[in-house]
Order: sequence, then structure tokens, then C-alpha cells
Amino acid sequence: MSRRAELESGLGEVRARIERACADAGRDASQVTLVAVTKFFPASDVRLLADLGVTDVGENRHQEAEAKAAECADLGLRWHYIGGLQSNKAGAVARYADVVESLDRPKLVGRLDRGAQERGRPVDVLLQVSLDPPGAEHRAGVDPDDLAVLAESVTAAEHLRLRGLMAVAPLGEEPSSAFARLAQVRAHFLDQHPSADLLSAGMSGDLEAAIAIGATHVRVGSAILGSRPLHR
Ligand SMILES: *Cc1c(COP(=O)(O)O)cnc(C)c1O
Repeated sequence: MSRRAELESGLGEVRARIERACADAGRDASQVTLVAVTKFFPASDVRLLADLGVTDVGENRHQEAEAKAAECADLGLRWHYIGGLQSNKAGAVARYADVVESLDRPKLVGRLDRGAQERGRPVDVLLQVSLDPPGAEHRAGVDPDDLAVLAESVTAAEHLRLRGLMAVAPLGEEPSSAFARLAQVRAHFLDQHPSADLLSAGMSGDLEAAIAIGATHVRVGSAILGSRPLHR
């Protein structure tokens, strides 16, 4: 099977899953954007995916993302940065990312804002919310108690647009119960920021559970591209 045929088949299956999950949730499939997570895979795959109709791609490592975005600059894709942000790299990420999904601390806001300013256009920002139980070993994401303060700092930044929330279901818990907490956090957040209504949640293993609670973006890698050569 050619690589193109492999990607076409993975993509077809994922699109069918999204449609089914939307139907089950009484939602229109046009309300959910597929972000194809291309980390660890070459720019040639990004090119094939674009040709197969993918509009949004996700990357989680700065150097790899920067190089691929440059190689694929002619494709008109929206680049989502979904990985851990180091404060000394945040400015550089804002120069190629159209959406930064993983903002999780106020310290990064100024650097992202300056990067967006240098690039000359605003960057969309999602705040990554931690769904870990309180006191868990730190994984990425802002504690829901600290979300309001972080959101305020983004709204105050001239070159950033607060667009919504992002989350990853923790390992070792049913995704649907973690996403139920996310739905509550989001409802509270929307009271304060009604127009920041994007929600990026759901991956290859749990996109149905995320769509059921209102995800507008699902980030899917291995179900489209196959298993990664190295695992995160
Ligand atoms: C890798 C990654 C994904 C995609 O994971 P799959 O299980 O391969 O679909 C989604 N979100 C984040 C934050 C990731 O790092």
C-alpha cells in the first residue's frame, strides 16, 4: 500500500468516527475540526494529508514543528502547537504557530505576545487545563483554580486572542469521567469569556468521549498516521 493510501484510509476511519460521535451527541460534524497530529512524521506526510483535505496540523516539539512549518509553508495549513512550552522558546513558537493550545502559565504570555507582534499578526491561544487530581505529579496544564488569572493575562495581551481551552485526559482514569470535569471547568470559564468557546480535547483513543462533552477540536495522531517511531 502506498503511503498516500495508508493515510487516506486512516483519515477515512477517523472522519467516520467523528461523524458517528457527532450524530450520537446530536451535533453537526461541521462543529468539530480534526487536527492531524504529525509529530515524529516527515513533512512529506503533512503534504499528503493536506492533499487529502486536512487543514489543521498539530506538533508538540518546537524544533521539529518550526522546520516542518517552514517546509510546508506553501500549503496554507493552520499550525497548532500542542506541546510543552519552554519560556525561552515561546516567542519562537508564536512566529509559526497559528494556534498555541498549550499555554499553561502566566510567565509565557509576554513572550508569546512579543513573538506574535514580531510576526505581525495575532496568535490564537487555548489554555491547557490540567485534569489531574490535585497533588498529582505535575503534568502539563493550569490548575482549574488558577485558570481565571491566566485567562485575564491573555486577554490583556495585545497580540494574543483568547479562544478557549485544551485538555488531555489523564492516564489511569476513564476519559469520560475526566472530560466530565473538563465540561464543568469550561462552563464556568464561558461565563467569564463567552466568546472563547473552542475546546480541544480527544485523541486517537478517546475522541468520542470528547465530542460527547462538546469538543470543537480533536487532536488525532496515531489513528491516522500509524504508531510513532518513538513514544511520548
Ligand atoms: C501526541 C498528541 C496527541 C495525539 O495522540 P494520538 O494518541 O496519537 O492520537 C494529541 N494531543 C497531544 C497533546 C499530543 O501530544
